[in-house]
Amino acid sequence: MAKTCVAVVGAGPGGLAAAMILAHRGFEVSVFEREAIIGGRNSELKLGSYSFDVGPTFLLMKFLLDQVFAETGRQTEDYLDCPRLDPMYELAFDGFSIHATTDRERMKQEIERTFPGQSAGLDRFHEVERVRFKRMYPCLQKAYGSLRSLLAPVFLRALPHLSIGRSIFQVLGNYFEPERLRLAFTFQSKYLGMSPWDCPGAFALIPYAENKLGIHHITGGLHRMSTAFAQVLEEEGGTLRLETPVHRLTLDGRKVTGVELADGSRVATDAVVINADFGHAMTRLVPEGVLKRYRAEKLRKLEFSCSTYMLYLGLDTVYPLPHHKIIFAKDYARNLREISHEKVLSEDFSLYIRNASVTDPSLAPEGHSAVYVLVPVPNNSGNVDWEREAPAFRERVLDVMEQRGGMTDLRAHIREEYIITPTDWEQQRGVYLGATFNLAHTLGQMLYFRPHNEFEELRNCYLVGGGTHPGSGIPTILESGRITSNLISRRWDVPFEPPPSFADELLDQG
Ligand SMILES: Cc1cc2nc3c(=O)[nH]c(=O)nc-3n(C[C@H](O)[C@H](O)[C@H](O)COP(=O)(O)OP(=O)(O)OC[C@H]3O[C@@H](n4cnc5c(N)ncnc54)[C@H](O)[C@@H]3O)c2cc1C
Repeated sequence: MAKTCVAVVGAGPGGLAAAMILAHRGFEVSVFEREAIIGGRNSELKLGSYSFDVGPTFLLMKFLLDQVFAETGRQTEDYLDCPRLDPMYELAFDGFSIHATTDRERMKQEIERTFPGQSAGLDRFHEVERVRFKRMYPCLQKAYGSLRSLLAPVFLRALPHLSIGRSIFQVLGNYFEPERLRLAFTFQSKYLGMSPWDCPGAFALIPYAENKLGIHHITGGLHRMSTAFAQVLEEEGGTLRLETPVHRLTLDGRKVTGVELADGSRVATDAVVINADFGHAMTRLVPEGVLKRYRAEKLRKLEFSCSTYMLYLGLDTVYPLPHHKIIFAKDYARNLREISHEKVLSEDFSLYIRNASVTDPSLAPEGHSAVYVLVPVPNNSGNVDWEREAPAFRERVLDVMEQRGGMTDLRAHIREEYIITPTDWEQQRGVYLGATFNLAHTLGQMLYFRPHNEFEELRNCYLVGGGTHPGSGIPTILESGRITSNLISRRWDVPFEPPPSFADELLDQG
């Protein structure tokens, strides 16, 4: 019997996760990637002999990575080395730092040291948020293809834990009073490209998962995850075609019949899975006049995440500083207002420095280091002129790294350098509005209200990655790979094991 053919547009982590699962289940899978390398935002940036991750550097909820490998009968450890980082990161505020650890007793001591009398809140945080996580996590494992899906028992059980109408910053006020201590447990909303004052309270499950299960690194860089998925895909008989942009979807009415490549050739398939950035794909891959809900004018009115200014530095020294360090603007609330609402560049900005060479010497020559800097900035729906701003902004970023980041004489140690601005994200890397974390995760753009995994506007068309349910971090993207693979398997009557039901032990794995 002829195999069911699936084309995947894009070799980001979501596309590759779905591709390898489907190939394992017997589908004939072809992945088309427009770049010469795999991974998309999760790819490697090589500058001379320094290696960087373009995007993700925090691997949260590593059990999900294990589950995705297990979907293909494999074990993560046979492909990747994933050390756990402890302490997880340094949070540098004006005048003091918090070193966060998953060791509850040590974390309480750290809270007492910085905010005397507040440590009891940590036990309450763990107790209450554990329940939220247990209720909500199963909701992230299922598709929301119809409004009725919001009546599913698993969702109804989670409803009281959604904290509707409350921001994550307000929710954390249940446990901690001081603003900066709350920020230590809510800055994670930035993983979604959102401000803690805007991010729905339900996302308190992220700081909980982080503080309970910790953060992992992948030796050699997180891009190795995408490389490993591609290897599994090929072991399962799938094909990966690099430097092969999909020009557009081919359609018969609203039914997708395959893809047309940039060279004009056509590939007929039974289903197409889109992993390319959602906004980019809707505006570039679907002929005009076909879409309704997500046509260009409507798309533009949706809410998108912030963007990021990126600086990658190959240094001829290794600073003895943490693997992950977040430096908060003195007035963080104002900084985030300027990013999300006023859409202007802040005088006083926050930034994140990844100094991974301290724990992973494979990223740079001996005695050297690969340093990655991420500055959250407005997406391109504002009017920042990056061509004009970029040179001065670079100097300001280096100043902060030297003065608040502990990187004395940094400029003298730079051997390699590469910058990505929001304009580059949009124009060179196909990220709609340069919104690096995709559609915002407001309640109105979540679950049923986010573009569906089985895309509601076109038949035989599926979505995977940050633009669909459940959302834009690596764990949720992996979950989208599994949800979409399961929808396709069900549609073509291919048997599969349902995802493992939630087990308490997951929360104790670490
Ligand atoms: C700077 C940054 C930092 C991040 N940090 C973290 C983090 O620490 N932890 C975390 O969990 N998440 C993080 N994320 C979020 C998220 O995990 C990544 O963005 C992730 O790589 C998104 O994966 P994706 O599957 O949605 O696809 P993408 O990575 O966006 O890949 C899509 C692929 O589609 C390809 N493509 C596009 N158009 C076409 C076409 N027409 N034809 C063929 N191919 C096409 C692209 O080239 C690309 O390879 C970060 C993101 C960014 C940008």
